[in-house]
Amino acid sequence: MNSTTAAELDLYQDVVMDHKRAPRRFGTLPAPTHQARGQNPSCGDDLQVTLNVAQGQIEDIRFSGQGCAICIASASMMTEAVHGGDVAVAQQLHQRFRAVLTGELEPEAAHLGKLISLAGVRRYPGRIKCALLGWHALMHALDEKS
Ligand code: ZN
Repeated sequence: MNSTTAAELDLYQDVVMDHKRAPRRFGTLPAPTHQARGQNPSCGDDLQVTLNVAQGQIEDIRFSGQGCAICIASASMMTEAVHGGDVAVAQQLHQRFRAVLTGELEPEAAHLGKLISLAGVRRYPGRIKCALLGWHALMHALDEKS
């Protein structure tokens, strides 16, 4: 097996492809308290995140749009990871996820849960924006005063 094949197998793990095939929480909330759009022109990824936040908790979240497998799978996994949780916890998870992808933190030390499936993206600098796009939109949405 050559290294390219091995790398691609690593990058496109089953769990990532499963989320690409069947994105979780895909759609748009009818009356969101927060929303934001994220675009990654270098890849053509374009996502919108809508959420309902109350008392510092993400009570509901949806994402919609189009993008590559890494972008869609990462956004899908993000919505599962933060749904029903505290805004502060989501922000901390984003920090750790980003630190793993940029090489500042080792995946084993980051307590990423299922997001560890995306840790292989750190070896593909051109795809890191794809994996972070949904998170950037989420953080942007949470920063907006509604
Ligand atoms: Zn992409």
